[in-house]
Amino acid sequence: MNTAFAVVVGAGLLLIAVLVGQPLLVVRRRARLAGAAPGRRDRALLRRHLPQYRRLPAPLRRRLEQRIAVFLGEKEFVGCRGLTVTPSMRLLITAQACLLGLGRDQHGYDRLRAVLIYPAQFVVPERWEDEDGVVTEEERVLAGQAWDVSRILLSWADVRQAGGAEPYNVVIHEFAHYLDHEAGGDDGVPWLPSAAAREQWRTLLERELADLRAVIARGAEPWLDPYAAEDAGEFFAVASEAFFEQPRELAARHPQLYRGLAAGYGLDPAAW
Ligand SMILES: [Zn+2]
Repeated sequence: MNTAFAVVVGAGLLLIAVLVGQPLLVVRRRARLAGAAPGRRDRALLRRHLPQYRRLPAPLRRRLEQRIAVFLGEKEFVGCRGLTVTPSMRLLITAQACLLGLGRDQHGYDRLRAVLIYPAQFVVPERWEDEDGVVTEEERVLAGQAWDVSRILLSWADVRQAGGAEPYNVVIHEFAHYLDHEAGGDDGVPWLPSAAAREQWRTLLERELADLRAVIARGAEPWLDPYAAEDAGEFFAVASEAFFEQPRELAARHPQLYRGLAAGYGLDPAAW
């Protein structure tokens, strides 16, 4: 490469890094990692176990493969309670996690450091204080938890239940919580490109949540997992599972919710 050309390329890379607000080193590392797309065996595994991968349009599938390579190169996977994490487990969890960010230009999950995998559901101690200062401590059994923005905990037995009759997907659920936390809270409003988009999503979310609670209060059985009625954060996580697991059903049953999620994620999985 001649010197002038190298300077132009270097300046271009730096400009991109500044524009997207990422250190140049990260941009370079990710460009290098993205080159190591999944090989034939990994692709076969993804096709066998991940219906979304089979359905993805080619350009999005290529993007997903690059994102997978970057995620695998950056994040640590830790087996808990004696679980040995295999390359297939890492690949399947990563592929589902990367689906959520596929509509964004940036890789995302910048602050995530590790995914902790338990063989089955696990117990975590919880402690909280109410408005009167009364402290409650209890143990909760969980299929997954977005602990904070650096760690996500998953039960492998639950990860394997995705793709069943119910729109259940613990990876999508916990990574949706992650996006919510990353945006600064657990109110079901993840990063969105503008204040107007956030406001629009918040209004829709509150209406859909109120509708769901009304269905449950009538004693009727909602299509969405009733756990979504807990609060806005859980509603967003559960609705995201339905959006990626059963997009056509969600679009038919809750068209406005589907359109809101499609706009937020920048994806249209019902068309895949
Ligand atoms: Zn949740």
